[in-house]
Amino acid sequence: MIYSDPYTPTRSYYECCDCGYREATDSLCPDCGGATKSIAVGRE
Ligand SMILES: [Zn+2]
Repeated sequence: MIYSDPYTPTRSYYECCDCGYREATDSLCPDCGGATKSIAVGRE
């Protein structure tokens, strides 16, 4: 089944290289201030 769910976006996420924190915006990690990298989220 394919449908759009605004609460579970399938687009790219960004993961902190240092602590692994994930966020949906391309910015520095709000937790430790480390750089984030783009990752593909296909499943939980
Ligand atoms: Zn971090």
